[in-house]
Amino acid sequence: GLTMPRPRHRRVFSVANQKGGVGKTTSTVNVAAALALAGLSVLVVDLDPQGNASTALAVDRSMGTPSIYEVLLGELTAAEAVQTCPYAPRLGCIPATIDLAGAEIELVSMVARETRLKKALLEVADSYDYIFVDCPPSLGLLTVNALVATEEVLIPIQCEYYALEGLGQLLRNIDLVKQHLNPSLDVSTILLTMYDGRTKLADQVAHEVREHFGTKVLETVIPRSVKVSEAPGFGQSVLTYDPGSRGAMSYLDAAREIADRGAGTGPGDTGSGGTSADHI
Ligand code: ADP
Ligand code: MG
Repeated sequence: GLTMPRPRHRRVFSVANQKGGVGKTTSTVNVAAALALAGLSVLVVDLDPQGNASTALAVDRSMGTPSIYEVLLGELTAAEAVQTCPYAPRLGCIPATIDLAGAEIELVSMVARETRLKKALLEVADSYDYIFVDCPPSLGLLTVNALVATEEVLIPIQCEYYALEGLGQLLRNIDLVKQHLNPSLDVSTILLTMYDGRTKLADQVAHEVREHFGTKVLETVIPRSVKVSEAPGFGQSVLTYDPGSRGAMSYLDAAREIADRGAGTGPGDTGSGGTSADHI
């Protein structure tokens, strides 16, 4: 059956990669859905003004809806902005509305601009086994807020040309946040996405990523699959849209690996392997 171990400690992830289109949102939504459908309490925080995670979780993100924007401004508590995903009752989402597009600039002049998300999430953290923050495709203040508010980073890497390009910059930013703002931050999980087994390139990229990151890379690789890309258009995760599909099975496997890694250990003991920015 669909059961996954509850983590010994609550686990809070940033899903980050400043490249767009690598599978951050897709991985956030489907891993979160898999864990929630298995009975765990999960919160997704949509920190991308595009709001794709909110859309895929089928929550309201129309103008004026309580959202992460008001939470960052301190106008609402996180609890006041949580909606429940209609297809997974244990899955909550704090949506992003169009207002968030201005936040990157508005945050610059705010007091405690890097720690606003952390402060907000502390108030609701006790209610969840897992929290995932879906980051925008940039390394600005929104992503910094995510890296300060979380303990683990999940980096999706697309098995494509230039997959490793820009990764060094991401890792250096993570190091800076770790040094100055959040010593417990750890790149715990790398997920290979959009794998096309017919191409030699995909294998080469997967090999290179495993060489560099060791056991931080999940064994499960997410295949390129039409079902995965179709699901959000139907307001579904791939797990609820087509449970028997390869895409659904792979996200279920990825979620199970993540859950198994967190079952016996705390964050920080989840896998080994380098995450230095050297040689990237
Ligand atoms: P990001 O959040 O990093 O920008 P997304 O998760 O939005 O990336 O994915 C980018 C695009 O690729 C989306 O259109 C999504 O539907 C599609 N996509 C993501 N993963 C897969 C997959 N495994 N197979 C096919 N399409 C995918
Ligand atoms: Mg996204």
